This record gives sequence, C-alpha cells and structure tokens, in this order.
Amino acid sequence: LAVPNDPVIPVIMGDGIGPDVMQAMRLTLDAAVAQAFGGQKKIEWLEVLAGAAAFAKTQEWLPRETLDAIKEHIVAIKGPLTTPIGGGIRSLNVTIRQELDLYACVRPVRYFEGVVSPVKRPQDIDLIIFRENTEDVYSGIEWKAGTPEADKVIEFLQKELHVNIRANSGIGIKPISAFGTKRLVKKAIAYAIQNHKPSVTLMHKGNIMKFTEGSFKEWGYQAAQEYFPQETITEQEVADNGGKIPDGKIVIKDRLADSLFQQVLLRPTEYSVIATPNLNGDYISDACAAQVGGLGLAPGANISDHVAVFEATHGTAPKYADKNMANPGSVILSGVMLLDYLGWQSAGQLITDALAKTIQQKIVTYDLERQMSGATKVGTREFAEAIVK
Ligand code: NAD
Repeated sequence: LAVPNDPVIPVIMGDGIGPDVMQAMRLTLDAAVAQAFGGQKKIEWLEVLAGAAAFAKTQEWLPRETLDAIKEHIVAIKGPLTTPIGGGIRSLNVTIRQELDLYACVRPVRYFEGVVSPVKRPQDIDLIIFRENTEDVYSGIEWKAGTPEADKVIEFLQKELHVNIRANSGIGIKPISAFGTKRLVKKAIAYAIQNHKPSVTLMHKGNIMKFTEGSFKEWGYQAAQEYFPQETITEQEVADNGGKIPDGKIVIKDRLADSLFQQVLLRPTEYSVIATPNLNGDYISDACAAQVGGLGLAPGANISDHVAVFEATHGTAPKYADKNMANPGSVILSGVMLLDYLGWQSAGQLITDALAKTIQQKIVTYDLERQMSGATKVGTREFAEAIVK
C-alpha cells in the first residue's frame, strides 16, 4: 500500500462493549505510532456509524456513507455490532462482508505467556487461519420446513433427481466454487510466502462431501500449482523426495477437518497457515482462540483484494457495556494487524511486546484475572494505559 503519513482510517466504535474497547485500541495505536515514528506519522480516525448506534441516529442499521467511507479509505477497523432481530437484515457483519466482498476472514492465534490455557504446551501454538467468508452453508440459501419453497425443492429432488428425502425437511444449500476457493487459497499461500511460514494446510471434509469440501481440496492444490509453482511443494512430493523439503519451499498439505481438530491440540507445531471453507473455519477459529486466552485475545480481519476491515472477533457482550471492564486485547491485536497491513510493523511490534509484558506482569482485565492466580484486575482503559506505559 502507498500509505500517507497521516492516513484516514474509518472506525466503527460499535455497540455494547464496543466504545470501551475501541477507545482503548485508539489510545494504544496512537501511542505506538507516535513512538515508533517519532511523531512523524499519525492515524486520522474517522468515526462512521453502524449497528444500534447508527439506527438510533439515522434509522438505518448500516448507512450507505459508512460503506462508502470504507471503500474510499481502503482500510478500516470495527467494534462489535448488535445484529437487529427481525426486520429483514440477517446479520450486519455478513452484510458488510458481502457488500465489500471481504472474502478472506483472517484469524491469527498466538499465545501470551502467563495466560491460563487448557492445553499443556500453549507456547507451541502459532497459527493463522484463512477462512473463506462468502460461500458454503453461510450463503443464506435455505428454506424452512413446510414452506411452499421447501416443498418445491423437495418435490424437485424427489421427482427430477430421484433423491430420497423426507417430506417436511428444512433445506440448505452448500455452494463452494473454484473461484471462491482459489482466491482464498492464493491469499493464504501469499501470506505464507511473505511471512516465511513453513506450510499451508487445506482443511476439509472431502471424504463425506466430495463435490464441495472435496473440491475445495482439489482446487486448493490447483491454486498452489497455478499461482506459486516455484514456491510450493506438496506433502506427497516431499515424501517422494525422501522426506526432504527444498530450502524455502512451502509445503501444501491437506487434512480432514475432524482429524485437524485433534492435531492442533496434540501436535500444534506441525500446523502454521490453515485455509478452510467457511463453516470449518468458524469452528476451528474459536476452538483455537480458546487455547490461548479466549475471545478477549482473539484478533481478526476480513479482507478482499481492495479493502481490509479489521475487527474484534467477539460480540457486544451487553452485560459489560459501558462498565470499563471488557478486555480490549482482541481489538488492540486487530489494530496490530492493521498496522502490519499499512507496513507500519515497527509500531505493531511495540504493541505486541508491551501487551505481552503487561500480561506477564499479571495486569489484566476481569476475564483473565479470574483464571490467573495473583493477578491484578484492571479496567479496559487502565489495561490500555498499562500497555502504553
Ligand atoms: P459475545 O462475544 O458478545 O459475548 C459472550 C461472552 O463472552 C460475554 O458474555 C463475555 O463473558 C465474554 N466476552 C466477549 N468479549 C469479551 C471481551 N472483550 N472481554 C471480556 N469478555 C468478553 O457473544 P454473544 O453474547 O453471543 O453476542 C452478543 C451480541 O453480539 C449479539 O447481538 C450478537 O449478534 C453480537 N455479535 C457481534 C459480533 C460482531 O460484531 N463481530 C460477533 C459475535 C456476536
């Protein structure tokens, strides 16, 4: 990216705990950028509206100006949003992803020393998940049992395709395309190359769903071959090469989803970048986050070829809204991803190091404090201030 010294970054403060954690994020990023660049660079935050805050002001859940601002400025960051119940909008997050074609959901998972983890060697976990964001059973193509639409689909399946299906079934469609798969896997491999990662694993359930998840695997290997023939090698080719991996080559492998869930628990060091269809990705992202401190420390981004929206991966936790209690770690680490994306890695590194130090000093918010013995519980703002200090 060609980034000016004072880029305008649209920010959606969000609902519930959103404003608390987003203020903490801004405080931290501003301090890190000022320190890393001696005051020569500065983010100009542009507050834009979405969610309940937008509805209260404009009677719209997702104003057009918000999407336009994100498109114009290319990089944005958002807090969690309340999804309206009823009223036609399925989910604001899904709408934002679809409107901006944010096809890759990127979730890094890494461990901060001191956090209590349910696994024996959490320090071995260093993964990044690339989840396809636009297809699969999340496409929203489904019909409720008993509706004329569902009955019509059932009749078609029975009569035209001779499929054995029960009456009064709910029906959902799982589209997975070559286009959607290849652009996602291409991004995952490009990331692996740029960041010197050893492997990319295609996670799928192709033994059961041959033409959706099975095709994801096939197209994934094809993407590696088509876009990065020099940089990649398959696991099979490594075996044929006597187990030797030529210097600098990234190993492309695939694992069945159920088996990969076991393996990231038992042998996390064997996995680095995971590329996966939407539903598997949803599950594995949260399962991996749970190993390293839960939602409070799980950053994420949704990325297209043009636009990137960084976000807290947790929801609005309404119980803790406006109480200065929530852990801002997730959105602060999403901010670090944003800084990396701008090419401002030195500022991001300052934050990561300071966050690690703060947790090591056992200065943490309520969610981590209740698991760590001898820890000091601080509020959202004080946690950010401790990082800055
Ligand atoms: P949630 O993530 O908001 O909260 C679940 C629980 O996790 C909370 O009660 C809290 O105990 C804990 N938690 C979450 N974030 C935390 C943080 N930063 N610090 C400390 N503890 C934290 O999930 P939910 O209760 O299922 O959803 C609440 C609302 O959020 C719903 O309206 C939902 O639609 C929305 N939501 C939005 C997003 C998003 O905008 N990306 C994601 C998920 C849910």
